[in-house]
Amino acid sequence: MDSFLPRYDDPIVSILLLLGIIFVVALLSYAYSIWKQEQSAKELMGFIKNFDSNECLLDTQNLQFEESMKKPLFLLALSYKKSGEYSKAISLYLYLLKHTKDSSILSSLAFAYFKAGFLQRARDVYLEIISKKPRNKEALYMLEFIYEKLNDYENALDALNVLEAQDEEVSALKLHLKYQEINKSFLSKEEKFEKLEKLLENSGRYRADIVRKLFILEPKKAWRYYEEEYFEKLIDILDKLDKDSIDLDIIAKQVSLKQLFFIKGFIETCENTSGIWALDILSAAKSCGVQSGELKFIYTCKKCKNSYPLPFSRCPNCHRVYSFNIGVEIEQKREKSDYSLQ
Ligand SMILES: [Zn+2]
Repeated sequence: MDSFLPRYDDPIVSILLLLGIIFVVALLSYAYSIWKQEQSAKELMGFIKNFDSNECLLDTQNLQFEESMKKPLFLLALSYKKSGEYSKAISLYLYLLKHTKDSSILSSLAFAYFKAGFLQRARDVYLEIISKKPRNKEALYMLEFIYEKLNDYENALDALNVLEAQDEEVSALKLHLKYQEINKSFLSKEEKFEKLEKLLENSGRYRADIVRKLFILEPKKAWRYYEEEYFEKLIDILDKLDKDSIDLDIIAKQVSLKQLFFIKGFIETCENTSGIWALDILSAAKSCGVQSGELKFIYTCKKCKNSYPLPFSRCPNCHRVYSFNIGVEIEQKREKSDYSLQ
């Protein structure tokens, strides 16, 4: 009888045992992955329930889902998002999430909430994404932006710290965040100016951008931080100054400053040229008695190249901070408009 059964020290028994162990481990691993997927799907469904779908603009309640509909519906949601119909896009993303349980749709949903102005909802969805993938950079950048908009600077800074730990360059964003915190505080003008002076010490290559903020706040005191190389970053602010806020000693040392304030009529003479086309033309015209033109400024984002008629803290298109170059043009003089520069 023993001769029909393999001996325990037979190599075949060892191989069979090994194969058996591999089979059991593979089976358990497969069962665990199925269980994990089901848990994730349950969690996702539980999370989506927090968002009331009754407010949806599309009638998705009676829409029967089929797997083949996933791609066309996703593309439809994308086109709604691109055309600015965010509520419809949100309805479709929620519908797709409910039926496909595909968590990759969460980032599209979060961004649609953000663009539609539902900041808390966008924040909650991005936090859900981060809870699953804590190193997701896109979600962390968006979270920082949303916390900043909600004036929650502590959490915004936390998001930046996580990005910095992943070797992301966030110094501009950190500086911008500190400025926003000071600017939106209830401090007096003088206190804000003092805090900005301290911020200036650690502003690195964004020093001219902080000097710009100082000029907006207290132009008379800001002149002490002015340097010749800042002119092109400050030209629009300087052009809005009144006669009482200028520093004649500093102006006398730089041709472009002299031209700018000669055109405005604050100084009497200006002989030289600065090489800045618009200033040269307007100062030459004024010398000949023609005063029908004035400077016009265009703000172009260095990253996405979109242009805007007003300055911005963050590019409205790509959300980059300290990103605009100022283009100087000439236009016919018109009634003064009363808008504030940032
Ligand atoms: Zn941009």
